[in-house]
Amino acid sequence: MRWSQALIPTLREVPKDAEIPSHQLLLRAGLIRPLAAGVYTFLPLGFRVLKKIERIVREEMDRAGALEVLMPALHPREIWEQTGRATTLDEILFKVKDRSDRAFVLGPTHEEIVTTLAAAEIRSYKQLPKNIYQIQTKFRDEPRPRFGLIRVKEFIMKDAYSFDVDEAGADRSYQAMYEAYKIIFARCGLRTIDVEAHSGAMGGSSSHEFMVVSPAGEDRVACCATCGYAANLEKATSRVIGPTSRPVPPEERVAHPAKFATPGVRTIEDLTKPPFNVPAERQIKTLVYVLDGKITLLLVHGCDELNEAKIPAATARPAHPDEIRAALGALPGSLGAVGVRQIPVIADATLRGATGMTTGANENEFHVRGVDVERDITVAQWVDLRMVQTGEGCPKCDGILRVDSAIEVGHVFKLGTKYSVALGANYLDEKGASRPMIMGCYGIGVSRCVAAIVEQCHDEKGIVWPRSVAPYEVAVLPLNINHGPTMEVAEEIYRELLDAGVEAILDDRPDRPGVKFNDADLIGFPVRVTVGEKSLAKGGVEVKARCETEAALVPPVQAVAVIREKLAV
Ligand SMILES: [Zn+2]
Repeated sequence: MRWSQALIPTLREVPKDAEIPSHQLLLRAGLIRPLAAGVYTFLPLGFRVLKKIERIVREEMDRAGALEVLMPALHPREIWEQTGRATTLDEILFKVKDRSDRAFVLGPTHEEIVTTLAAAEIRSYKQLPKNIYQIQTKFRDEPRPRFGLIRVKEFIMKDAYSFDVDEAGADRSYQAMYEAYKIIFARCGLRTIDVEAHSGAMGGSSSHEFMVVSPAGEDRVACCATCGYAANLEKATSRVIGPTSRPVPPEERVAHPAKFATPGVRTIEDLTKPPFNVPAERQIKTLVYVLDGKITLLLVHGCDELNEAKIPAATARPAHPDEIRAALGALPGSLGAVGVRQIPVIADATLRGATGMTTGANENEFHVRGVDVERDITVAQWVDLRMVQTGEGCPKCDGILRVDSAIEVGHVFKLGTKYSVALGANYLDEKGASRPMIMGCYGIGVSRCVAAIVEQCHDEKGIVWPRSVAPYEVAVLPLNINHGPTMEVAEEIYRELLDAGVEAILDDRPDRPGVKFNDADLIGFPVRVTVGEKSLAKGGVEVKARCETEAALVPPVQAVAVIREKLAV
């Protein structure tokens, strides 16, 4: 490609509202442009990157035996009603109607559609297993699009769905995808960790997420560097820290709890300040939830965060203020479980045996101190309710956990028969009995991978693309296009690169050298070849990999060989 004929609108300034490196750099390097909040155009360079990621995904999916199809983005709403997800996913569904008022949704995922397909086309165990995938546009009505390609309303996804006759087969399908994913991300130049995940809205029984650790990530993962344990924070556990690790000074142990006035105290933090000075770890945080329709108190240490995914109930939601007042007679800020008998109390296991604790008195602007949890509170259930924090013990070994932000780029789920039962995807077994197919589903956020790679591969000058996904592998920079010998050498190297099958771009713009260097570094071509009068006078051209600080002076005839060596690294 000749730069003068390309469409590469680079920007010098960091665009407003672009908060994270990938968003800033993809805009500045001219790879993407917004059309609306959370809706993007891929410009030619960005589209090349996207296509390369797609190719890697396609090759590995095909190698794993999956079959590529293309399903519609426009789905009749009644199919979504059959699984109940027209309701449960209502908030993220884009709804449209056709001219005769028939309701459709724009697909946010394709379990319903692929299961409908399998129900129609697969009859016998002899046709199984099958794994069907596509690379296609998805729509989700994201309430707060942010972070460029990370949180959007429209995106490209690879989604695969496996159908098996039994659990053993489903396990094999799951494992095959898990292995393929590791290869896909490695080929894209992404360092991922795979974590145990909570299955959430997909309704599966087991799942793993592939995460890219990045400060820009919206998910949080807990990892152990010692044994490799890694889990989504929703699912992470740690070695339970009992009361012994948070010892109580003897003077705080009292015969019975004592009420004291706490005017103006609304939060855990308020109580940590003078004149009260109660550390958060000596406070009990009382949360009022409605679990399966029943008001329940959930207790964690004041320094801990409740993990909703760990609540032992099918449905759980925070109680409304009027429900709280009706149940406890006080406002949030003064709530506690001491002496509460009519309402069930579920306490985090780390509170077991804790003494000298402070909690709300269920009387506005009063608290109680000297609480011995097991003595003074009627606890119905002790369970792990808390979010793991950095520095806690690994549940699998003696190591210490670290909690990091991460971007989810892939997800593998075991779905079981949730969709096949709802949509009648049955097969006949050897004995002629009808059974539901066992399913799995496997997603990769293809357009999100573009951003994740940039998050991981950039420096202060710009993007540093891994060769496998770079928009072009080599940029040839003639510094003065009006200097005959410079252009001759540059054109010759450019032609040789194309002949050798190397993807090259020739910067034939009449711009200053500084502009060309800055743009090449900003876009992040893996190798740059500079052709200038000075280096030619010294007998060569300058070849430099994007990640190197020094360029090598190479005779023009050897340039292509040296470039190919650098690309092979
Ligand atoms: Zn460990």
